[in-house]
Amino acid sequence: MELAARLERIRERIRDAALACGRDPAAVRLVAVAKTFPPDDIRRAAAAGATDIGENYIQEARAKFEELSGLGVHWHFIGRLQTNKARQAVRMFDLIHTVDSAHLAAEIDRAAAKLGKVQPVLVQVNVAGEATKSGVAPADTAALVSEISRMQAVRVQGLMTLPPYFDQPERVRPFFAELRRLAGRIRELALPNVCMDSLSMGMTGDFEAAIAEGATLVRVGTAIFGGRG
Ligand SMILES: *Cc1c(COP(=O)(O)O)cnc(C)c1O
Repeated sequence: MELAARLERIRERIRDAALACGRDPAAVRLVAVAKTFPPDDIRRAAAAGATDIGENYIQEARAKFEELSGLGVHWHFIGRLQTNKARQAVRMFDLIHTVDSAHLAAEIDRAAAKLGKVQPVLVQVNVAGEATKSGVAPADTAALVSEISRMQAVRVQGLMTLPPYFDQPERVRPFFAELRRLAGRIRELALPNVCMDSLSMGMTGDFEAAIAEGATLVRVGTAIFGGRG
């Protein structure tokens, strides 16, 4: 199958998953995750209607970003962000999904202020407490969001998670549900400058389960661009 056909197939599955649980398909945005794939693949995806592109590595993103300036897509940073790369991330990305410390948020705040930008971010939550994964613990999430809410040039728009891997997507579902409940609890705090509207969760293997649990951003790479070897 061609990239355009694969993209269309994912769009159909997103629509079906949203309708199956009574949600508006337009409320789920597809982020096409392009890490390791060349700029030409991103061009093909954009020509086939992709509006949002996800990248994991600043260095790789920088080369593609320069080459694809003017493509008119939204860029999402979904990788681990080192504080010394915050400036470059702010320069390139419309949404940074992976803020998991006040220190990192403060660097983003500083960089954004310098560039005269207000940077939208998501707070990454380590829902299962996995030692190998980034993300703030669920119990510490509200405090982190509250701390970030006092920064001038960063805006929290929601939460993101990368749950444990299971062969059966149904087994991941409780972790997606946990992220949704956590966002709901934080929304009730009505923190100034915080909106908890976005839930970034679900990848190639489990995005339908994530949509059933309220995902507004699904990050799909393999099913669109192919395997990464
Ligand atoms: C690579 C990656 C994805 C996409 O994963 P696929 O299984 O290829 O769809 C989504 N989210 C994050 C954080 C990733 O690193």
